Amino acid sequence: MRLSQMLFVTLREDPAEAEIPSHKLLLRAGYIRRIGSGIYAYLPLMWRVLKKVSQIVREEMDATGAQECLLPQLQPADLWRESGRWDTYTQAEGIMFAMTDRQQRELGLGPTHEEVITTIAKDMIRSYRQLPLHLYQIQTKFRDEIRPRFGLMRGREFIMKDGYSFHTNEESLKKTYQDMAQAYSNMLRRSGLQFRAVDADSGAIGGSGSQEFMVLAEAGEDEVLYTEDGQYAANVEKAVSMPADLEPSPFASFEKRETPGTETIDKLCKFLKCSPTQVVKNVLYQAVYDNGITVLVLVSIRGDQDVNQVKLLNELTKLAGNYQAKTVLFLTVPDAEAQRKWAAKSLPLGYMAPDVADDYIAGSKEVNSKFLRLVDRTAVDLTNFVTGSNESGYHVVGANWNKEFPLPATVVGVRTAKKGDRAVHNPEQTLQSARGIEVGHIFQLGTKYSQAMGATYTSEQGEEMPFVMGCYGVGVSRLAQSAVEQSYDKDGIIWPVAIAPYHAIISIPNISDAQQVEVAEKLYAELNQSGIETLLDDRDERAGVKFKDADLIGIPYRIVPGRSLKAGKVEVVERATHKSQEILVDEVNSTLKQWIEAAIN
Ligand code: ATP
Ligand code: MG
Repeated sequence: MRLSQMLFVTLREDPAEAEIPSHKLLLRAGYIRRIGSGIYAYLPLMWRVLKKVSQIVREEMDATGAQECLLPQLQPADLWRESGRWDTYTQAEGIMFAMTDRQQRELGLGPTHEEVITTIAKDMIRSYRQLPLHLYQIQTKFRDEIRPRFGLMRGREFIMKDGYSFHTNEESLKKTYQDMAQAYSNMLRRSGLQFRAVDADSGAIGGSGSQEFMVLAEAGEDEVLYTEDGQYAANVEKAVSMPADLEPSPFASFEKRETPGTETIDKLCKFLKCSPTQVVKNVLYQAVYDNGITVLVLVSIRGDQDVNQVKLLNELTKLAGNYQAKTVLFLTVPDAEAQRKWAAKSLPLGYMAPDVADDYIAGSKEVNSKFLRLVDRTAVDLTNFVTGSNESGYHVVGANWNKEFPLPATVVGVRTAKKGDRAVHNPEQTLQSARGIEVGHIFQLGTKYSQAMGATYTSEQGEEMPFVMGCYGVGVSRLAQSAVEQSYDKDGIIWPVAIAPYHAIISIPNISDAQQVEVAEKLYAELNQSGIETLLDDRDERAGVKFKDADLIGIPYRIVPGRSLKAGKVEVVERATHKSQEILVDEVNSTLKQWIEAAIN
C-alpha cells in the first residue's frame, strides 16, 4: 500500500479523550476513531492488526479440533428467559442492549452466546456418539458497559472469540479445558505478549474452575496476586492467603468504654492502644435478590482484614434459597439514602456490634426484617476482643463469642488476600501484586445452562442427560490494544512483528530524487511479492515527517533508500531498538525474511 493513497492521518497532540498510553497512541496513529461512547471505527491499519490476531486465534482453535461457525447477534428474549438471564442481563446488570421489533417481539443484541449455542445443541445433538463437540466464532459482541473506557479495552461493541464445548462427563470437559489453557497460552505467546494465567472467580456457577489470561500492564483494571516460586497466581477476586498472626488481647475482662471519634479501626486502635487483630469489625451490606427482596447483611470480620465483595456475593448467592430467590442482583454498601428506605431508626454506624438489634430494620414485603449475620473465619477464633457497643462513641473490650455475643451461625471465608500475605501452599512465600488486563477467560460451566434450558442427549445407557459444558472467551480487540500497552516508547507504537499491520515501510527521503524512487519502487514490488507486507511512504513530505510517522505507527522495519544508495545499499532501521544497518539492496529481501521469521517463531 502507498501512503499517498491511504486514509493516513496522524495527530501530533495526544487526544484529550484518552487516558492510557495505548489508547492515546492508537488514536494518534490513526488506527481507531471514536464514533460514540465505547464505539470505535477500526481503520484500515487496525483492521489488519485485528485480522492477524484473529488468524492466530483461529489457527490455535482449529488445532484443538474446535470448529468455527457464526451465530446470530440478534437473540430472541425467549431464549434468555429459558436460561433465566433475561431480567438479570437487561435490568439488573443492564449489560444487554434490548429492543422490541415491529411485531412487539423482544430481542437482545448478543453480549455472549450460551443461550444460542445451548439451543442449537439441544436441537441437534441427540446422542452421546456426537460428543464431545466444540464450536467457536469470532464476532462483534455488544455490551452496554456502565463505564466504557480506554478505547478498545472496554468498548460497548468489541470483537470476541467465544467457544462452547459439550461433553458427556467432567473428565472430557477437563480435557478440553486443558487444551484451551494451552491454546490460549499459545495465542498470547505468538502475539508477542507478556502474560500470566491466573485462578479466577467462577462466580455463583461454582464448577471446578476457571482461569483468566492476564496481560501484565500497569493500566490493567485487574489485580493479580502471585508468588515468586511460580506456584500460585490468582485474580484478587479469587485469591487466598494466610492472614497475619493474631496478637494476644490486652483486655482480660468485658467492659464498655467511651471511645469518642473512633468510627474507623485506625482511630479505635490508636485510642485503645490495641492491635486491629484484636478487633471484630462489623460491616453492613445490602443485597437485593432477584425476587426483589432486600436483605441487610452484617459481616463480622477481624479488624485488620477487608471483605472481598466478590467472595461475599458468591456466599450470598448460595444463601438465595433461604429467601426464595435464585441469585443476587445487587450488592452494595448502603449509603444514607439507601438506609432511609429501610432503617427504622438511625444506625450506630462505626459502632455496631455483631448483635445489633433487628429492630433497626423496618421490615416490609420488600425488606427482610432480620439481619443476615455472617462471620468471617478470621474473626471466629478471637477471644477478649474489641467490638462496637451499638451506641455511638462507645466500644466494648474483652468480649467473647457465645458469652457476650452469639457467634453467627454462618461462618464464611470472605476476606481479601493482599500483597505481603503469606501463601497457603508455602508460608515462606509472600504474595506479590501486579496489574493485569484480562484478555481471556476459560470456564468449566458444568450443567448450568443445559439444565435450565432442558438441553439433553441420550447416554450410552439410554438415559436423558444434560450436557456438561465449558466456555472460552478471548477479547480479540482488547488483546490487540494490550499489545500496544505493553510495547511502546516516546516515539510511538512498537508492534510485535506477528501482529503488526505491515512488516516493513519504505520511507523515500526525497520523492524528487529519481534514484531513490526507483530503488524504493523496486523493493516495494519485490518485498510484497515475496510475502513481506510492505508500505511505501511516497508522500511529498519532508524525510523527518516520514520517519516520525513510521515510528508512531510502529512498523517493525523501516527501509530508507538514501545516502547509502551510492554504495548500492539502503538503511534498515529496527523500530524496537532504533538500530540501523546498511544492507545491499539485493539482500534486503532475504535479510528481512530471516528477521521476520525469527521474530514470529
Ligand atoms: P471484564 O471482567 O473485563 O468485564 P468479562 O469477565 O465480562 O470481562 P467475559 O465475559 O469473560 O469478560 O468475555 C471474554 C473476554 O472478552 C474478556 O476476557 C475480555 O478480553 C473481552 N471483553 C469483555 N468485555 C469487553 C469489553 N467491554 N470490551 C472489550 N473486550 C471485552
Ligand atoms: Mg471476567
